[in-house]
Amino acid sequence: MSKTVLILPGDGIGPEIIAEAKKVLDAVNAKYNLGIEYTDGSLGGASIDQHGVPLSDDTLAKARAADAILLGAVGGPKWDKLDPAIRPEKGLLKIRSELELFANLRPAILYPQLAEASTLKPEVVAGLDILIVRELTGGIYFGQPRGIRTLENGERQGYNTYVYAEHEIERIGRNAFEMAMKRDKKLCSVDKANVLEATMLWREVMDRLAPEYPEVELSHMYVDNAAMQLVRAPKQFDVMVTGNMFGDILSDAAAMLTGSIGMLPSASLDKNGCGMYEPCHGSAPDIAGQGIANPLATILSVAMMLRYSLDMPEPANEIEAAVSKVLDQGLRTADIYTDGMQKVSTSEMGAAVVAAL
Ligand code: NAD
Repeated sequence: MSKTVLILPGDGIGPEIIAEAKKVLDAVNAKYNLGIEYTDGSLGGASIDQHGVPLSDDTLAKARAADAILLGAVGGPKWDKLDPAIRPEKGLLKIRSELELFANLRPAILYPQLAEASTLKPEVVAGLDILIVRELTGGIYFGQPRGIRTLENGERQGYNTYVYAEHEIERIGRNAFEMAMKRDKKLCSVDKANVLEATMLWREVMDRLAPEYPEVELSHMYVDNAAMQLVRAPKQFDVMVTGNMFGDILSDAAAMLTGSIGMLPSASLDKNGCGMYEPCHGSAPDIAGQGIANPLATILSVAMMLRYSLDMPEPANEIEAAVSKVLDQGLRTADIYTDGMQKVSTSEMGAAVVAAL
């Protein structure tokens, strides 16, 4: 049966990296006769320019109908001065919440070939393989009330609400325990339960789930310590689970352990495993249009999409092996370049992965 993938290139480097990811998907589609079909839509700034809103009803309908979504990235200075309600990022938050993509999986894997590209000592990061499971549709990014109000004395005050209901914690908790079962069976739940009530409840729910997964060793860590431990001794972690904002920050820190944010894919899944796949990085307006962006995070997102939403593990493994092979060949985009390697452009990197398949 054919599967439909909605392609959303987005803004900045989005169209450049998506073009390469699509070449790779085309190649495995043809080689394995996967029957994958594409639909197109727009999100973020590109959608604001076309439709006046960051997510149109048409794209949302296509997203609901698709088996998976492949996204580049959204945002950029062009749209930064718009009303916050219609900025590009709102489109991203809306598609995640409308499709209930509550589980964000962010693997941070250090390819041995890139140990030198990390800012940490190779012995600290060599062999690193962490999975961060971030809650994506709740917490302070969505909590109400929120806004900027004027107080009686005329001073303005910004406010947001950090809120988690038990069912939201439970479903992301289960997802994380299940991921841990497929890996080294170690789960670290990150919170700030010494200060924030919402995360006291978070910790309580994680403890309540633990007996259902007796093989998984559950630990808890405050987010400030987790940030420190990630740069001190990151290999102590296997799976980490945390709320939306802490996960946003910790996964970027984990990204840098691996040398470049340009290497890291992500998956955002609903309860049925349908999902949206995108690189962890943003639209990198500083390098957009120069043909130097690293497309590997997006290409690796295609592999995650094949594995988690399309149930096609074989081509997923093959894409990951092809990425490893081009790194073995010494090919590097500027962000992961080190002396003695061969510097390549975005499209040369994409072509090399296709050739390695
Ligand atoms: P960013 O991730 O876009 O860029 C951070 C740094 O990493 C920049 O120096 C950039 O050049 C570099 N970088 C990022 N991706 C790269 C790649 N593939 N290859 C090489 N270098 C890469 O983060 P930012 O600068 O904070 O944000 C830029 C825009 O992206 C903002 O509008 C922000 O809101 C948006 N953003 C979008 C998403 C998303 O779409 N999921 C996520 C984060 C930020």
